[in-house]
Amino acid sequence: MADIIQLLPDHVANQIAAGEVVQRPSSVVKELLENAVDAEATIIKLIVKDAGKTLIQVIDNGKGMSVTDARLSFERHSTSKIRNAEDLFDLHTKGFRGEALASIAAISHVELKTRQAPDDIGVQIKIEGSSLKSQEVTVVPTGTSVAVKNLFFNIPARRNFLKSNPVETRHIIDEFHRISLAHPDISFVMLQNGSEIFNLSVGKIRQRIVNIFGGKTNEKLVPVKEETDVLKISGFVGKPEFAKKTRGNQFLFVNNRFIKNAYLNHSINAAFDGLLQKGKHASYFLYLQVDPKTIDINIHPTKTEIKFEDEHTLYAILRAAVKHSLGQFNVAPVLDFDRDGNMETPYAYKNKDVTNPKIEIDRNFNPFKEEKTSKAFSQGYKKENIANWESLYVGLESKSNASQKDFSEMKFESDDVVPSIFDEDASKITQKTFQLHYKYIVNTIKSGILIIDQHRAHQRILYEDFLQHITVKEAVSQQLLFPVALQFSNAEIDILKDLREQLEQTGFVFSKLEGVVELTGIPVSVSDANVSLVLEQLINDVENEVPESHFSQTDLLAKSLAKSLAIKTGQGLTIEEQEFLVNKLFACKESSISPSNKPIFITLSMEDMDKKFDRL
Ligand code: ADP
Ligand code: MG
Repeated sequence: MADIIQLLPDHVANQIAAGEVVQRPSSVVKELLENAVDAEATIIKLIVKDAGKTLIQVIDNGKGMSVTDARLSFERHSTSKIRNAEDLFDLHTKGFRGEALASIAAISHVELKTRQAPDDIGVQIKIEGSSLKSQEVTVVPTGTSVAVKNLFFNIPARRNFLKSNPVETRHIIDEFHRISLAHPDISFVMLQNGSEIFNLSVGKIRQRIVNIFGGKTNEKLVPVKEETDVLKISGFVGKPEFAKKTRGNQFLFVNNRFIKNAYLNHSINAAFDGLLQKGKHASYFLYLQVDPKTIDINIHPTKTEIKFEDEHTLYAILRAAVKHSLGQFNVAPVLDFDRDGNMETPYAYKNKDVTNPKIEIDRNFNPFKEEKTSKAFSQGYKKENIANWESLYVGLESKSNASQKDFSEMKFESDDVVPSIFDEDASKITQKTFQLHYKYIVNTIKSGILIIDQHRAHQRILYEDFLQHITVKEAVSQQLLFPVALQFSNAEIDILKDLREQLEQTGFVFSKLEGVVELTGIPVSVSDANVSLVLEQLINDVENEVPESHFSQTDLLAKSLAKSLAIKTGQGLTIEEQEFLVNKLFACKESSISPSNKPIFITLSMEDMDKKFDRL
């Protein structure tokens, strides 16, 4: 029988290899940025169009390539970084496999321009799907520019499986974060669809973190430093009170290479033991330096995984170092006999004489008349005192008729519903509801009892309010006496810009949304003290859900605001507030399911109870 084994032609082999190296546009970004770092560039510029689907270009001022090297760089296993197998155990560069450029060129249109410092002119090479289209001399600055266009043009299945632009952009920005955080000594710029979203100048690590994640990050960082024979650690961890629900900013670098390692991640989390609320994740930016001979980064083609010789020792050192920092910077609880800061006299009172507190009695006070509604409920329904505040409400004048009507003549749909749902007998008793463990509102109904989750109920109410405001009518906004300026990173500001229209519908008034966020008005339900948190949560939600259509963006915004602003479990509510909440809940279009699809209330029927009492 004839021999049947054949060597695969190079372009096929390259396409197969490409599948390993290039999963999505962000993989190309990673490889190109790493090549620029390896070329000892001091300024690296990343240009992305259409989430990398049409263009990914990296321009560096590094050492460039000779004409021969430029041509060779696209061959498989062509690398200038290792010469023999021993070199594999003493790596100081990011790349070493010599596959990236060959793989990328196999599945896209690549245009390389490069020049070495001593040469007068450089070279330009165009390759499409592994085949050379042109090679010519050209005048270019020292360094290299690689432009990758039409990624996966010859693998439609891959191209079709790419996620939406926001999702792919998110991946690209993640890579950009990882590499720019690993190299604060290099200046990085990123342009997305023509606008500059990062411009990171050379500086210390702390400055780099702040430049990327925004000015507000600065106060959240606690420095970590430790040096032992086997391991050097530097960097920062986030203060526990700023921990997030999502594993957002967890960056671990080993010898300036971003890595993922569940075991070491665990050791950092272990250092936070007892300091984080359940379900929250610490953020960290930690830089480990180890002898390259004690690690093996060769185990994964995309090289984010790493094998250590002695993981147990590293675990212990890392945990101790983080714990030590948290303790040293007074983040961790101090020993019991230390003074409690809360017990100290505030500065302003330190030198004052002690006087007896004055007791003032309001003789007109009638406890049965007082009607209190906390701010949480005042989303446009507060009738009293409105006149005095009128000047602070923007947009109230033009819509005053409609709004006034809202305030005074508002009739809840549930007013009609109440008699039928709620037990008529119970209505004769003054108190129809009570609060259980500051968590549930309990009501008697005809068929038994109704137990409502207060947080979810309020979330539902606010959610429908916001949705209505965004889609149908503009909400009333409270004008701030002094504009508040908030620090956000450019990428975060971009997210806010995307949502600007909808945010303004809910009552936010932006006076600046370029470089810095400045607000002159906020929704009535938001206070200036929590506005930063509310927007931060929103950005976080957008980043994690990445909405695609206008519809889901509106929905996400309403959900996020409702979640941040809804009264929390643990908050005490007056009877009026409880009743208000119940009425509003049953006036909602959907009162049984929270915006995040969780049940809002449960009922316990007489029958259920009878069963439990063994009466049936
Ligand atoms: P590797 O980085 O693993 O060596 P690549 O395929 O990424 O493999 O690159 C192949 C070679 O091309 C590199 O070893 C390097 O010599 C050269 N090269 C790639 N990008 C650049 C760049 N931006 N500047 C200078 N040389 C580069
Ligand atoms: Mg490389």
